[in-house]
Amino acid sequence: MMGSGCQSLWRASATDAPQLRALEGSHQVDVVIVGGGFTGLSTALHLAKEGIAVLLLEADELGYGGSGRNVGLVNAGVWLEPDLLDKQLGKEAGRQMYDALAAAPEFVFKLIEEYDIDCEATRNGTLHAGVGQAGLAQLERRFAQLKQRGAPVSLLAAKDAQARIGSDKFNGALFDPRAGTIQPLSYVRGLAKAALKEGAKLFECSPVTDLTSSQGNWLVKTPHGEVAANKVILATNAYCQHGVANQSSKFVPIAYSQLASQPLTSSQLAQVLPNKEGVWDTCTVMSSFRLDQRGRLIFGGMGAEGRVLSNWASQRVRELFPALGELAWEYSWTGNIAYSADHLPHCQQLKEGLLSISGYSGRGIGPGTVMGMELAQWITGQRETLSIPMTKLKDIPFREIQRIFYELGAQTYHLGQQVHALR
Ligand SMILES: Cc1cc2nc3c(=O)[nH]c(=O)nc-3n(C[C@H](O)[C@H](O)[C@H](O)COP(=O)(O)OP(=O)(O)OC[C@H]3O[C@@H](n4cnc5c(N)ncnc54)[C@H](O)[C@@H]3O)c2cc1C
Repeated sequence: MMGSGCQSLWRASATDAPQLRALEGSHQVDVVIVGGGFTGLSTALHLAKEGIAVLLLEADELGYGGSGRNVGLVNAGVWLEPDLLDKQLGKEAGRQMYDALAAAPEFVFKLIEEYDIDCEATRNGTLHAGVGQAGLAQLERRFAQLKQRGAPVSLLAAKDAQARIGSDKFNGALFDPRAGTIQPLSYVRGLAKAALKEGAKLFECSPVTDLTSSQGNWLVKTPHGEVAANKVILATNAYCQHGVANQSSKFVPIAYSQLASQPLTSSQLAQVLPNKEGVWDTCTVMSSFRLDQRGRLIFGGMGAEGRVLSNWASQRVRELFPALGELAWEYSWTGNIAYSADHLPHCQQLKEGLLSISGYSGRGIGPGTVMGMELAQWITGQRETLSIPMTKLKDIPFREIQRIFYELGAQTYHLGQQVHALR
């Protein structure tokens, strides 16, 4: 059952946002960042820490994009299996990216500690839960590849997965103790406060509407102000607005929605995720679940929010956790994931001094934070390359058709599951 006036749980439960103004007048800095999510804020923080004059412009409010809407699973690595990463990038580049992003949760949780970021940080690992024989085979493959790279993961048999998750519907689970969960919007706001403390200038309600360059200098315009800088970083991922440098054509936006219940009672809480890991499953039309600090169950699935998705979530929760009884959903929200053609994030040098980083494909908390740090090191000459590919991305063909295909596929799948459950 859905409550009235549904909104995002993250917005309702986040820590206070820093008070920011819209950009007015003319400014001059070293680096302008467009976009106030994990990537932009981490870049601003790490540049400011190095004494670089940096100014960040957010079109809406900080965390308006994927960073304020995600599941909050701080996972290690990328979406692809490690062997596939090597195959796509070549062994050396694949290993470089794997190593950098395998260490991403450690980097995120250390940053949270260093800046005392209040964001419900819980580092109890994540569980990738296997559905059916195909799901188990997928986990066994991942497990072997991760073990070969020295990851401290373990493959839980069905009985152990059942004890950890509280459901007998999974054939096993891959446990990754490096990972954890956060309240993502509180993490965004904490990163912003850290960046301000280090001297970065941040502005909200300041959409970048125009970017021009002349003789190595960029002029970045918003409705009421402008900034001159040597470098501009586009950190807009799936939420690119105002056609800035045409980045929307480089990914397919795929909707993913979540619902959050009322806080569970202590007897309900004893039945589900007693160690409070975050979970996502092996299904092609993926779902995820986790608890927040108040003990709400947050359940997510692919597709835009609406009756089909909320009915499916209620039915799936009944199936997975019959002991919980009927849950009332108090919050629901949707976010767009930027799926790149190869499901990997890429950095592009679009022109001299103009960089863009996008395509996290649903794995951006650790990668966005790490890439912000790496970009800052690269700009300040402390590193020569980034751990993700520097590519000139091509436009994705039939992008809108692909988006519709994924959306229809998700809704049909969820409807089909409900019909199947009624039989
Ligand atoms: C529903 C969902 C669930 C996810 N779950 C997870 C998860 O559990 N774990 C994980 O690691 N990752 C997850 N992700 C992926 C992750 O959230 C993203 O990869 C990450 O937030 C990208 O961060 P970003 O800073 O690059 O972009 P965003 O957070 O999207 O920020 C881009 C910002 O740019 C701003 N902007 C756009 N155009 C302009 C302009 N012209 N001028 C000024 N500002 C502009 C936007 O308003 C926006 O705030 C999920 C994503 C979604 C949508």
